[in-house]
Amino acid sequence: MTTVGDVVAVLEAAYPPALAESWDAVGLVCGDPAEPVDRVLVCVDPVEATVDEALELGAQLVVAHHPLLLRGVHGVPASTPKGGLVHRLIRAGAGLFCAHTNADAAAPGVSDALADALGLTVTGPLNPNDDGRTGIGRVGELPAPEPFHAFVERVAAALPATAAGVRGAGERDRLIRTVAVSGGAGDSYLGVATALGVDAYVTADLRHHPASEHLALGAVPALVDVAHWASEWPWCEQVAAILRGAVGGNVDITVSIRTTDPWTVVSAR
Ligand SMILES: [Zn+2]
Repeated sequence: MTTVGDVVAVLEAAYPPALAESWDAVGLVCGDPAEPVDRVLVCVDPVEATVDEALELGAQLVVAHHPLLLRGVHGVPASTPKGGLVHRLIRAGAGLFCAHTNADAAAPGVSDALADALGLTVTGPLNPNDDGRTGIGRVGELPAPEPFHAFVERVAAALPATAAGVRGAGERDRLIRTVAVSGGAGDSYLGVATALGVDAYVTADLRHHPASEHLALGAVPALVDVAHWASEWPWCEQVAAILRGAVGGNVDITVSIRTTDPWTVVSAR
């Protein structure tokens, strides 16, 4: 028998809580470590769609990247969206575990999964911790240089489709070989990627002014902006592989296939 606590121990060995940022909230949100688990759902966002998916599967544990309760709360009344999710999970006998910035920084972590999906050979973290091995983002190399427009197509093909799609900013035909990636909102590391002199930087939630000012400075690295959810979704397969390796004999691990990117309607104009 495998317990929730056993699964949590495997996840905390892979994504040590000590690697989380001080403002973050990681670990078990609800759930009894002593209870048995034979089905786990791995997802990016702990939201209505993924809780539905977990309960339909009969999962006793949801492993999510984003925290459900990042800021302090006084209660979890079922009349609020987040409290409602906590109630649904507990009533169904399911726990929720979140690995956020600890999963970003760990090696392998969120950005290794993104880099692997893009076919990059990782050479190290974008913003390394003191150990030089862990840290936010990754830098890697393509097997061969390719024009930026082809690289943008590569990114789109590698990630799950979203309504908002993939956008590039930079010279269409400039050759791309070295690439920095940062799963999730990565515009705060644009300066680091620029200082490293990589050819392209792939992340999510790039804002107008940082992107515009970057282009004015010469547009190197070229920028690729993807949906936040899509940039972190490859991590789910990494988690699933780690859990299958450790407890796969007793526990069925499913990666969520429900798109939880909030942007779902695009104008036809
Ligand atoms: Zn994120």
